[in-house]
Amino acid sequence: MSSNKISKVGIKVWFFGLLFYSNPLVGQTHMTELPSYVVINNPQETRADVLRNPAEPLSFPLSELDKKIIETLVKKFDQEENCAGLAAPQIGFGKQIIVFAVDDDPDLKKWRPDLTDTMPKTIWINPTYEPVGVDKHTDYEGCFSVDEITGPVPRFKTIQYSAYTPDGTHVEGTAEGFLARLIQHEIDHLNGHCFIDYVEEDKLLSIEEYRKKRKAAMES
Ligand SMILES: [Zn+2]
Repeated sequence: MSSNKISKVGIKVWFFGLLFYSNPLVGQTHMTELPSYVVINNPQETRADVLRNPAEPLSFPLSELDKKIIETLVKKFDQEENCAGLAAPQIGFGKQIIVFAVDDDPDLKKWRPDLTDTMPKTIWINPTYEPVGVDKHTDYEGCFSVDEITGPVPRFKTIQYSAYTPDGTHVEGTAEGFLARLIQHEIDHLNGHCFIDYVEEDKLLSIEEYRKKRKAAMES
C-alpha cells in the first residue's frame, strides 16, 4: 500500500466528530456561516464548558430553535468528507442531538475490522445506551473537539440504544463493533465526556505519531 493511500485512509479513521463555532441562533433569520468546532484542548477556547456539562434533553414537538440547531449540525456534518459523527455540544449547543453514519466502506474496514453493523445517516434526539455484556474492545479514536491528539479507547463491543427521531418516533435496537463505538463516542459528548477521558496519559499520541505507527504496522 502506498503511503498516500495509508494517509488518506488514516485521516478517514480519525474524524469522529466535529463542531462549529456557534453564533447564537436565536433571532437569526439567516445563517450564512456554520459555527466552528469547540476544541477542548485549545487554551484560547472560550466555549469548552459546553463539552463538559450535560446537554439538555429536547421536548416534542421540537421548537423552531431546536429544528434550526439540527439543520445546522447536519449541514456541518454534510460538509465534512471524513466525519463519522457529530454531537451538538461540539458546535456550541448544549442540546441532546447527534448525527452519524457508518457506511459499508471497504477502505474503512481495513482499519476497522470490527465494522460489521452499518447505519445510513441518522439524526437522534435524546439518545442513551446501555452495554450488553461486559466485553470491551480497544481502538484508536479521534475527534474534531480534540486537536491533533488520538489514543486507544476501550468501548463496549455491544450496546442497546434508545433514541428519538426528529419527528418524535422512538427507536431502539442493538449495535455492535465500530457502530457501537461511534454511538458511545457521540452520546458521551451529551454527558460531558470526551474520549481523552478514557485514555491513559502516556498512551495519548499526536496524529502524526499515530500515522507513523500505523504505517509501520502495515509495512511489517
Ligand atoms: Zn467527538
